[in-house]
Amino acid sequence: MLRIAAAGSPMSTPSPGGTVEGIKQAHSLGINALEVEWVQRVPSNLERMEQIRKTSQELDVKLTVHAPYFINLNADDPSKLEASKQRILNALSMAELCGAVSVCVHPAFYLKNTPEEAFESVRTATAEIMSFKDSLFPNTNLAYETMGKRTQFGTLEEVLKISKEFGIYPCVDFAHLHARSNGELNSVDEWDEMLDMYKEYLGDNSLSEMHIHYSGIEYTEKGERRHLPLKDSDANWQDFVQVLKERKVGGVLVCESPVMEQDTLLMIEEYDK
Ligand SMILES: [Zn+2]
Repeated sequence: MLRIAAAGSPMSTPSPGGTVEGIKQAHSLGINALEVEWVQRVPSNLERMEQIRKTSQELDVKLTVHAPYFINLNADDPSKLEASKQRILNALSMAELCGAVSVCVHPAFYLKNTPEEAFESVRTATAEIMSFKDSLFPNTNLAYETMGKRTQFGTLEEVLKISKEFGIYPCVDFAHLHARSNGELNSVDEWDEMLDMYKEYLGDNSLSEMHIHYSGIEYTEKGERRHLPLKDSDANWQDFVQVLKERKVGGVLVCESPVMEQDTLLMIEEYDK
């Protein structure tokens, strides 16, 4: 079963807002998944995590989390590297407490390194993070995201390779990959190939529980510029939704559109056709 999620609390959430109210609002709109946006900081209030978990379970709204942006597992400054690992561990621990199934992370920038060197740094850091899996986040997946800029670690192959090695699954942002390839990867055949590659790396059942991002996107030859509403973009979003349906992809598809729940609902409507 694929759930199509809002990215953060819906815009229409009554004040004072917040994640608990956002879950209730998503539910009332007919949206059964939500990505909690901890992109600036990870909260530390344990009672709050419990409220989020209870509300999402009661209303059957499945949760994923977006980890903070300020992460680079290929940082050459040791203190920046340490802070990056800590932010990921904090996000995973709190996500576990609120019952989120997967946490997406922007893994790294290449900086002056080759992709192979960056891969080694990400691998070393991942081994350290995963050493806390059993104690801190036994039920929550660490999802490295495919990234939209060519200066960023995060091609589909890179995130699949590292995920396979550690028994985790990535967050495939198909809009980022469309931008990164300067306009390719926007057709049924290409999506099919990507899903085949995903399955080759992660196994026959892997398509049944994916973490996906999608939206319209503006790009240049350097890659992503900004996210766009589906209808203002070149995204073949209706075809995309239908491919996921035909391939019986399950898990959570987060719609990261600037018009938020408006586009989530559009995708749900298309999926249910
Ligand atoms: Zn992201």
